[in-house]
Amino acid sequence: MYHIGIGISDFMICRNCGVYIGAHMPDKDGAYANVMAHVLDDHAQFTLPSIPVVRTKESEAEKRARRRAAWTPAVILPPQK
Ligand SMILES: [Zn+2]
Repeated sequence: MYHIGIGISDFMICRNCGVYIGAHMPDKDGAYANVMAHVLDDHAQFTLPSIPVVRTKESEAEKRARRRAAWTPAVILPPQK
């Protein structure tokens, strides 16, 4: 996992090919995450076009609020043995 930008989220990158898989943001009431649909086996089911965005001027509070609203509540499980 990598910390990028202001360091409030963990970005998951495939260790084999370097593709960005998703991000996880711990927050005061739990955690939130997203997954890049195009990395899923059934990615063809996601038919909406990608929308490029630039959010360089968001404050940390704005970023957290947007992620709490748009990402899904999530829990990172420990590695399975
Ligand atoms: Zn990969």
